[in-house]
Amino acid sequence: MSYKIAIDGPSSAGKSTIAKMLAKELGYIYIDTGAMYRAIGLYLIDNKVDIHDEKSVIGVLDNIDVTLDYDDKNNLHVYLNGKDISSRIRTQEVGEAASVCSQYLKVREKLVSLQKKLAEEKSCCMDGRDIASNVLPNANLKLYVIASDECRAKRRYIEEKEKGIDTTIEKVLEELKARDYRDMNREHNPLIKVSDAVEIDTTDRTADDVVDDIMSRFF
Ligand code: C5P
Repeated sequence: MSYKIAIDGPSSAGKSTIAKMLAKELGYIYIDTGAMYRAIGLYLIDNKVDIHDEKSVIGVLDNIDVTLDYDDKNNLHVYLNGKDISSRIRTQEVGEAASVCSQYLKVREKLVSLQKKLAEEKSCCMDGRDIASNVLPNANLKLYVIASDECRAKRRYIEEKEKGIDTTIEKVLEELKARDYRDMNREHNPLIKVSDAVEIDTTDRTADDVVDDIMSRFF
C-alpha cells in the first residue's frame, strides 16, 4: 500500500524544505508541483508568449512536455522538453510567470493529471497549493504549512541575496503577498486549508525541529 502526504501552504512558508526532508526520512519520492508550473512559466518566457493572454498560453500547451526524474542521490530534477531546467526555474520572474499561468484551467488540468499519475504507484510527499483539496484528496496525511509574513519575507530575502539579487525585505514581502493573494483568490483550485489538514507553523523554527515534530506525531 502506498502512503501519500499532501503539503500545502503559502509561498516561502517552508513547504518544500519540509516535504523534501520528510520524503528522505521515510524513503518516499518527493514531488514538487510548483516546479512543474514554473517549467511552464519558463517555457512562456523563453518563447515570448504573453502570460496574461490565456488564449496564447493555451495555444502553446501541446508544445510543452514537463517531466520529473531523480538522480542517484534521489534529488529531484525537472525537465522541460527533455532539458534539465531545475536551476533555471528558481527566479522571481519564473515564479511570477508560474503564478499567473497557473490560474488557467487548461494549464492546471495538464499538470494535475500528470501529478496524479506520478503519485499512483509510489509512496510520496507532494507539495503545492491544491494538493489536499484537488490532486490527492484521499491523502493519508494533509499538512498546511504556514509562517509569519516577517519570517517568510526574511527567508526569501536571504535566498535572493545569496543569488546575488539586489532587493529589500519590503519589496520581497510585497511580492509574496501579491503571489499569495492571486493563489488564494483564483477561480480554479485556489490555495485553501482543507478541514482535515493539520496546521504546521514554521515561524522561527529550524527545519529539523519541524520534521522531528511531524515524525514523532504521525509516524
Ligand atoms: O511553490 P512555488 O513557488 O514553486 O510555485 C510557483 C507557483 O505555481 C505558485 O505561486 C502557484 O501560483 C503555482 N502553483 C499552483 N499549484 C500548485 C503548485 C504551484 O498553482 N500545486
